[in-house]
Amino acid sequence: MKFKELGLADTIVRAITEHGYDSPTPIQAQAIPAVLAGGDLLAGAQTGTGKTAGFVLPLLQKLSTTISGKSQKPRALILAPTRELAAQVFENVEVYGKYLPLKSMVMFGGVGLNPQIAQLKKGVDILVATPGRLIDHHNQGHIDLSKIEILVLDEADRMLDMGFIHDIKRILKMLPSKRQNLLFSATFSDEIKALADNLLDKPAMIEV
Ligand code: AMP
Repeated sequence: MKFKELGLADTIVRAITEHGYDSPTPIQAQAIPAVLAGGDLLAGAQTGTGKTAGFVLPLLQKLSTTISGKSQKPRALILAPTRELAAQVFENVEVYGKYLPLKSMVMFGGVGLNPQIAQLKKGVDILVATPGRLIDHHNQGHIDLSKIEILVLDEADRMLDMGFIHDIKRILKMLPSKRQNLLFSATFSDEIKALADNLLDKPAMIEV
């Protein structure tokens, strides 16, 4: 199996190849076509399985092949529990999207708001964020999430363990109701199942 066979564009395959990947991991082979098909996804995957590229690659493809207009408001939102994970996901977005005309940024707490506000003003297609900082920006009117087409919850179980459920629910209310939702989690407690039931519409389910 090669990345090209999964339906990814040459510009994305070239970035992956240059990054040194030869073929998709099992989670990527399942997640990429499922996300490209356009429906919601519930994925059970541990770190180390290649799950990040499993959602970043099809997300890049979908955004780069559809017209965004000139609004420059974020079209994809990836939520991660910690700043380390958010930074790591952002780095993946930058590496795999290097040949695409998409702007991405990462925001997390513990650093100044002003550089993030300045970056938001320049326009962002893909936003990687931790929940608390995203809510801060939204409350202060720095960010408009009304054009989000794809939402990813990465390591959703860790987000719940860290007490982010209320933040997640608040963020969901900021998003348009018509969108594609992807939930990645290593474990499936009752709390995660309830969140998935609430969030996902007839999701494709994959587990590795
Ligand atoms: P992740 O589970 O997303 O944290 O990825 C785990 C590690 O696997 C990271 O260091 C990735 O760079 C690497 N990786 C992801 N996809 C592939 C692939 N298709 N082939 C080889 N390595 C990969």
